[in-house]
Amino acid sequence: MRLAVSLALIAALLLPAPALADALVDNVDGITLDEKGEVVRFTGIVMSPDGKVVKLLKRGEKRPERPDWRADLKGRVVIPGMVDAHGHVMNLGFRALALDLSGTRSLAQAQDAIRRYAAENPTRRWITGGGWNQEVWGLGRFPTAAELDAATGDVPTWLVRADGHAGWANSAALKAAGITPATKSPAGGRIELVAGKPGGVFVDAAMELIEKALPQPTPRDRNAAFIKAQDMLLSMGVTASADMGTSVDDWLTYRRMGDMGLLRMRIMSYSDGVETALRVGGSGPTPWLYADKLRMGGIKLYTDGALGSRGAWLKAPYSDAPGNRGLPFLTDAQLSNLLVRGAMDGFQFAIHAIGDRANSQVLDAITEVGETYKGDRRWRIEHAQVVDPVDLSRFAKLGVIASMQPVHQSSDRTMAEARVGAARLAGAYAWKSLLDSGARIAFGSDYPVESPNPFEGWATGFTRQDAQGQPVGGWRPEEALTRERSWRAFTLDGAYAGFAETKFGHLAPGMRADFIVVDRDPLLASPSELRATVVIETWVGGEQVYRRPGSDASGGR
Ligand SMILES: [Zn+2]
Repeated sequence: MRLAVSLALIAALLLPAPALADALVDNVDGITLDEKGEVVRFTGIVMSPDGKVVKLLKRGEKRPERPDWRADLKGRVVIPGMVDAHGHVMNLGFRALALDLSGTRSLAQAQDAIRRYAAENPTRRWITGGGWNQEVWGLGRFPTAAELDAATGDVPTWLVRADGHAGWANSAALKAAGITPATKSPAGGRIELVAGKPGGVFVDAAMELIEKALPQPTPRDRNAAFIKAQDMLLSMGVTASADMGTSVDDWLTYRRMGDMGLLRMRIMSYSDGVETALRVGGSGPTPWLYADKLRMGGIKLYTDGALGSRGAWLKAPYSDAPGNRGLPFLTDAQLSNLLVRGAMDGFQFAIHAIGDRANSQVLDAITEVGETYKGDRRWRIEHAQVVDPVDLSRFAKLGVIASMQPVHQSSDRTMAEARVGAARLAGAYAWKSLLDSGARIAFGSDYPVESPNPFEGWATGFTRQDAQGQPVGGWRPEEALTRERSWRAFTLDGAYAGFAETKFGHLAPGMRADFIVVDRDPLLASPSELRATVVIETWVGGEQVYRRPGSDASGGR
């Protein structure tokens, strides 16, 4: 008896103290996945003062008596913030701030756009950007330095062609780079001549002659690029992203933002190599910083190039380039040594592999290194675009996460058919086969190569169609996921791939309150409606970090 009383007393003492008043986001049409991937519906979110979910409320369930703060979302749809498992944060910002000529239809239109940009950006030391295409302009020749001078005056200017294989410089840029009539075209490149002198356009390897003269971005430039990227991502509903290839300067930018309280999204950082990881992390991954907003937990490596330029490393020659199999970036020994060096200190690896030979090289290396470095490593292969069907089952066996980008499939399908032919497509963009074999897959966009809009990727993940609904019925539709499974790859599994599944990626008690208010039910919308989803508000850690201009939803917090 006596014992029972004291046990009851101890139990009472162990009960949590009455919580500080919580915040309540109420009157929502809420949908999330639970940690098993099952759909859960709710009508309110109780959040703790430190921005975590305390409870998801069901219809009719009692609300907290006197919340600190209450928002009425008027029945709008609320879903967890989207997670992009593969993006390039700083590149997104730099590209968005640069001059974009991709919409111009003539040289005169381009010159107008350049003049406008120069007027709006008077403090830039150089004007940079690109997206031009003289074929689209109907010019029948390359543009010239003099034609660029007419729009820029003497601000050095360098604009890359839409395909990335040529650049257009003005006279000030030629001067800054020390180009003279005597400058010779380097191996693998060509200087376009006008009247026997460098005319302003530099092709392939010759581009480096100008690019070496470009000034390095200052910390101020980097801050501006980061803020731009963050604004774009939050406005599209992306609350967390892997950053693939973080340099030391990128890392310092994220730290400055965090120190100043300007880091509003979550970044799972993968360094641009072993050396950067060791410089930043010291003896291992960094802790989660700024209330789970930033961590460098892994290392990004490249083992081959891309399919479009035939840089992907294949087991057999390209179908449209006999004798060419692409090239490896690393020898087997180099790859294993890098994996060992990072794994020793507990870093995760995210390894770019596009061709089937590159994928098997990585799987072999993980097999070898994994014998010594066991445990929960979550090895990742980025892209895994063309995989030999015999290698598909090795992902699950080795615990390798396939980090894939649905929109690459719809953008690349015709090119991929030409490059590798029908027979090898059996293991290409093989989302469903990988999943069925027991492998984890995580989805991302690879922004800024593709748009960071996660709703496009989500829709592609279960339709295998592009934005125009092509091809009808989907491209190799047997590899499509279900709508819920595609969503899961952009939420739960994106977080899992970054060792963050207990922090964010779905809404449940104890998770960070990262959610978005959208204008439609993504589980009921048609694929084209899903792509067109409008994000009205974005919340990270219980704070509103984006609100669509002109919207009247919650009034923020
Ligand atoms: Zn990438």
